[in-house]
Amino acid sequence: MKNILLVEDEKGIARMIAVQLNLVGFHVITVSDLAGALATDLSDIELIILDWMLPDGCGPEIIPRLRQKKELPILMLTARSELVDKLTGFEAGADDYLTKPFDMMELIARIKALLRRQSTAPAPSAESDRVLRFETLTLNTDTRRVCVGDQTVNLTPTEFKILKLLMEHTGKVFSRDELIHSVLGYDYEGYGRTLDSHIARLRNKINCDDSTGHYIKTVFGVGYRLGDEA
Ligand code: CA
Repeated sequence: MKNILLVEDEKGIARMIAVQLNLVGFHVITVSDLAGALATDLSDIELIILDWMLPDGCGPEIIPRLRQKKELPILMLTARSELVDKLTGFEAGADDYLTKPFDMMELIARIKALLRRQSTAPAPSAESDRVLRFETLTLNTDTRRVCVGDQTVNLTPTEFKILKLLMEHTGKVFSRDELIHSVLGYDYEGYGRTLDSHIARLRNKINCDDSTGHYIKTVFGVGYRLGDEA
């Protein structure tokens, strides 16, 4: 049974999520605030569901610290529907979000998609390090380390997957649908905006010493490409 950490202060919602997820084979460990989340041992946890508004602060505040402990998929729950909040959630490193009130089947589908993405990540191999390079960017597919020049860049699992795909096919134009399908694992066109916000954050992270423009080019009306046309 896979363990999920649920950080939610509304007891009714927390109980409902725990019961429903248990029915489909997940074990839910519930805490009700940020302090509880940070105190939890994440070694057996495979995914975190993080509420936005909590008694001791906002969920996104602790995402970097959770990620330092362990690279896990994080799904934000938010009672607010404003796009600006969702974008803040992504900037803080959440992999997905769901606006309350949500349909339990949708929550389960999102969780399964996030876990699938995690499990299809390449397993560490015993072979020598595999390094992809593009100009000053290097990406090691074994250690999952990404550098701009000699600076290590911390990417979320989703950002890593996007960059890896683009670096494996430098110059190829990926449509947004292709990227959504292969990176986010959804077959649903409504995720274009989600993808754009992942790309925006990735650009910020990998262009820190680049004054000549973005490595990741927008191909107007189509999608994205790394570097110049193939
Ligand atoms: Ca709350």
